[in-house]
Amino acid sequence: MSATKRALVTGLTGQDGAYLAQLLLSKGYEVHGLVRRSASADVIDARLRWLGIATEIHFHDGNLTDLSSLLRVMGDARPDEVYNLAAQSFVKSSWQQPILTGNVTALGAGNMLEAVRLAAPKARYYQASSSEMYGLIQEPMQSEKTPFYPRSPYAVAKLYAHWMTVNYRESFGLHASSGILCNHESPLRGIEFVTRKITDGVARIKLGLQEKLALGNLDASRDWGHARDYVRAMWLMLQQDKADDYVIATGRTSSIRDFCKLAFGHVGLNYENHVYVDPRFLRPAEVEVLLGDPTKARERLGWTFECSLEQMVAEMVDADLARLSMK
Ligand code: GDP
Repeated sequence: MSATKRALVTGLTGQDGAYLAQLLLSKGYEVHGLVRRSASADVIDARLRWLGIATEIHFHDGNLTDLSSLLRVMGDARPDEVYNLAAQSFVKSSWQQPILTGNVTALGAGNMLEAVRLAAPKARYYQASSSEMYGLIQEPMQSEKTPFYPRSPYAVAKLYAHWMTVNYRESFGLHASSGILCNHESPLRGIEFVTRKITDGVARIKLGLQEKLALGNLDASRDWGHARDYVRAMWLMLQQDKADDYVIATGRTSSIRDFCKLAFGHVGLNYENHVYVDPRFLRPAEVEVLLGDPTKARERLGWTFECSLEQMVAEMVDADLARLSMK
């Protein structure tokens, strides 16, 4: 048995990819990342640099929509574990680019599963599924048994990827697991997501750089955890003898309004003096509330979260204050 485990991560330059890479490196893994050529290549490893790990990653050029590139990368990286985190992951953009979202988020996962089946069939596979698949919720608390009802092209695409993962496990015996993760945030969250948009706005307002913050639906609720806790669950899933599907969540839901209260409150401001609703940020179909049930993950994986919502909001606001003060 080779001493060093090898992991291949897609979406390595995103929030979860960066935290997962950090976790895997701390466990002694050799970490390989699939990276897509992009026009903004100079900022591509910003999150990895923030965590101080950019130079420790083995990068491979490739694209989820190009099966031949994935086959080549499987051959070069020879992974023991594959984490498919790459996606067009912003829900609102999925109405503007529904077909691209399907090509990357749905068929891209199909390509990954094919690449594993053909070129690395012994590798363990993790699929990043999403609580957005519950959409118009069919039960007040969503578990692995709750029926899905996707409400965006993004969620429809994620559902395809989820069922392909289950199907490849059942059809070909792949060790393929699907993590149905509720929203998870951090200082590395993309600015287009509501939590980072709020903490960045709070920091700007606190520093006198702007006065107001325009948001959409303040009454939607999400079960928010910290990405650092959630990538640990991904890794745990691949350490099990049997592959399976798990909901990862905190079991607590809070509204956008609650998040605003906490974030503005952290710097002694009242959100009501600064936040207003701009219809441009409303969505054609909304997911009003998500609340995950992490019981199975707790019982089978021994997973629990460590960071509370309050701690996470404080960390995010402080990081945005620091980031903006450095400029
Ligand atoms: P999502 O759950 O993956 O769609 O994560 P987001 O952070 O993008 O959105 C979470 C919720 O916040 C959704 O219900 C949005 O409608 C709501 N929301 C309200 N205002 C905004 C906003 O200005 N930007 C974003 N991204 N979401 C907003």
